[in-house]
Amino acid sequence: MIINRVSTERDPARPRSRRWFLGLAGSSAIAAACGGRTGSTPESESESTSGSAPETPAPTTSGEADSDGSAGSETDLPGVDDFIIVGAGAAGMTAAHLLVRHGRGVRILEAASTHGGRIRAEFDFVDFPVSLGGEWLIAPESELADIVSDPAVPITASVERYDPASSSGYHDDDVGLVIEPLGEFDYLNFVDGSWLDFFDDHIVEGIADRMTFDTEVVEIDWTDTVVRLTDASGDVHRSRHAIVTAPLAVLQRGDIRFVPPLPDDTQSAIDAAVVWGGIKVFVEFTERFYPTFLEFADSDTRTGQRTYYDAAAHHDTDTAVLGLFAVGTAAEPYQALSGDALRDHVLAELDDVFDGAASRTYVRHVVQDWSAEPFIGQAYLNDHEDPAIPRALATPLGDRVFFAGDAYTSHDDWGGVDDAAQSARDTVARIVG
Ligand SMILES: Cc1cc2nc3c(=O)[nH]c(=O)nc-3n(C[C@H](O)[C@H](O)[C@H](O)COP(=O)(O)OP(=O)(O)OC[C@H]3O[C@@H](n4cnc5c(N)ncnc54)[C@H](O)[C@@H]3O)c2cc1C
Repeated sequence: MIINRVSTERDPARPRSRRWFLGLAGSSAIAAACGGRTGSTPESESESTSGSAPETPAPTTSGEADSDGSAGSETDLPGVDDFIIVGAGAAGMTAAHLLVRHGRGVRILEAASTHGGRIRAEFDFVDFPVSLGGEWLIAPESELADIVSDPAVPITASVERYDPASSSGYHDDDVGLVIEPLGEFDYLNFVDGSWLDFFDDHIVEGIADRMTFDTEVVEIDWTDTVVRLTDASGDVHRSRHAIVTAPLAVLQRGDIRFVPPLPDDTQSAIDAAVVWGGIKVFVEFTERFYPTFLEFADSDTRTGQRTYYDAAAHHDTDTAVLGLFAVGTAAEPYQALSGDALRDHVLAELDDVFDGAASRTYVRHVVQDWSAEPFIGQAYLNDHEDPAIPRALATPLGDRVFFAGDAYTSHDDWGGVDDAAQSARDTVARIVG
């Protein structure tokens, strides 16, 4: 694809990294032309204990034991949940779903007032779901069945590849706008749906009564056999195991205090990780004057990525909606603006490419700045990160506190919904076998 002009900046060690569109399609004439190119009521307490890293506790056992030596019951101790999961994003929901399937007791404490995290979708903007965060399936279609993990449950979501004949545009001041066929491109798009729809249709029903919203965990005390999670209201929730799925930026800000403090290796990885911010803007126009994808000379660098794309693709609609995806440094010029100024900046950028068509056909827009989103504060771990970082972040604290999420993984990729779900599967397998 045309963006090959910046391919020298790519890291060959990360073949599946989240370069959302960039460099995945076929060859480019332009490249040649350019010479390259929830459950129980919480107990109110106030005290907490600090000290050195605790010993691994002897598990409480009754009934038929799982591989962690614990029973497959809701709880063994009165007032103590088996599992508490911090966060109801893709990882938290997947982990809860699997644990429920294993007959384990689970509650999810979610800081926001709804589930989904970074797969939030907007259903009222136009006549199809607009994915404000995670949008494409960047894994084989079988990943959907892997998330559900129940052969008896049919996958009703439909995903499609882009037509290779779709148009891919490239623009810079030297060559102007050049449009060519997209070529082979292996990202899958939900047809008339979204990642959030997929979780709602296949996962949420079974765990809905396990979720407690507006409950921000601010302290996790893992000193003793029972983990004590204190929320922002001062209520203390107790569990035998905790699974933390809060985004890395939340841990970097120290919004969750660990008692005792996190081990040096974990804290060092948190501090060293370069987490990209990110923003999405969706603009409705009266007509579709743009190609399926539009990229620029700076669309793919080691510090960020951006692209415009036809957000209505694979949806049953006549509404023209162009999406802007920008992460890392590529997002910053947009994030520096808001309201009319951001709208005008986007329209001016598009007018420059399409001879004023954007301003002439503009209807309205919607913005999701993930860097400014409470309890999120980021897009995802940068594509070029040292794999030792997510691996260190996936390391549990003894056998009580676990991490699951798109940045807590020992696999060779991170930063996607499939990675978050895979991480949750790994964590649950580690605990219950
Ligand atoms: C702009 C953008 C575009 C993307 N595009 C794609 C894509 O096309 N395809 C793809 O696969 N992935 C994409 N991703 C990445 C994908 O959205 C994430 O990898 C995935 O959703 C992360 O899921 P998670 O469960 O690990 O984290 P999250 O979804 O962030 O869930 C964590 C949850 O924890 C909650 N929380 C935080 N702090 C606390 C606390 N203290 N107490 C209680 N709860 C707390 C949060 O509110 C949140 O609900 C994109 C991301 C962004 C930002």
